[in-house]
Amino acid sequence: MKTILTGLRPTGNLHLGHYFGACVNYLKLQDQYDFYLEIADVQGLTDNFDNPEKVRKNVREITTDLLAIGLDPNKVHFFVQSRIPEIAELTVFYSNLVTVSRLRRNPTVKAEIAQKKELFGNDGESISYGFLGYPVSQAADITCFNGELVPAGEDQMPLIEQCREIVRKFNSIYGDTLKETSILLSDNKRIKGLDGNDKMGKSLGNAIYLVDTEEEISKKVMGALTDTNKIRRDDKANPEKCMVYYYHKLVNTEENVNKVCGECKKGERGCVQCKKELIEAMNKFLSDFRTRRKVYEENPSLVDEILNQGTQIAKKVAKEQIKNVKKAMMLDYND
Ligand code: ATP
Ligand code: MG
Repeated sequence: MKTILTGLRPTGNLHLGHYFGACVNYLKLQDQYDFYLEIADVQGLTDNFDNPEKVRKNVREITTDLLAIGLDPNKVHFFVQSRIPEIAELTVFYSNLVTVSRLRRNPTVKAEIAQKKELFGNDGESISYGFLGYPVSQAADITCFNGELVPAGEDQMPLIEQCREIVRKFNSIYGDTLKETSILLSDNKRIKGLDGNDKMGKSLGNAIYLVDTEEEISKKVMGALTDTNKIRRDDKANPEKCMVYYYHKLVNTEENVNKVCGECKKGERGCVQCKKELIEAMNKFLSDFRTRRKVYEENPSLVDEILNQGTQIAKKVAKEQIKNVKKAMMLDYND
């Protein structure tokens, strides 16, 4: 069985971007692979170091969300990054194999610096050593478990490429030790935000969360970006410029989506009606999630136990792998 590894930062709940961009694949893959799912608290801290409560709280929150979408803890090893110190060791070793300028040029790092100007400055001049090293730490996550595939959203592609470079460099210097990895994208590689932004993101304030209540969903959908040229109900509009149509395509039936599209183009559909129909479809889509989540919410110790068990399994694998790496690097002392 091949091993896959993926991770999420415990910096908030799961949103539709996570779900359609990455998690739909997790659901398919859990039956076919040895699946390690990392709750990346150390990475969560890179830009939330001053808010440890937020990261700690979201470890359980995001695990609860992941279980509620239907991931099976008997098939997926859920583990907490900081509880595997070997990952931190690998990060230090790999940091010699990547240049600072290569990290600065990494498109994902660049995009995140641009998004977080208040933290990192206009040109990333105040970026921390820890955040800049984020791709190195991800390479450590993946190689610690010899992950051959990483199911993730498109924004992660440059990070996976960076990991492949590190692996090649490591193997060429210290001998064949690490496996090369590849990204596994879902059909919806990148989910847009309510405001029309190219990416729905926790840090961007443009997300619909799977835990959102009916009232929250309703408020968010009512405020979603529509074709700005459409003012009156009978104005013809372009659904491709409308976020409401965009989400209809994600959660509604093909028949309804075609109806929405046709009527919108002909000026036979008002935006308010269209939004109400989306709210209904969204709540239907979330119904199973809500039922499953309630069970875990009422049993938080069950979630903690799932994390404990997965972490114990991950620890064993990590201990073996760090031995291989240290041997290759001539750091194998008999302590
Ligand atoms: P943050 O803004 O704090 O970085 P995030 O929303 O980007 O949060 P992450 O934990 O960084 O969430 O990402 C977890 C996974 O979800 C990654 O595989 C990422 O590619 C995927 N993902 C997140 N947002 C989207 C999106 N809008 N479209 C597709 N995939 C996404
Ligand atoms: Mg992110």
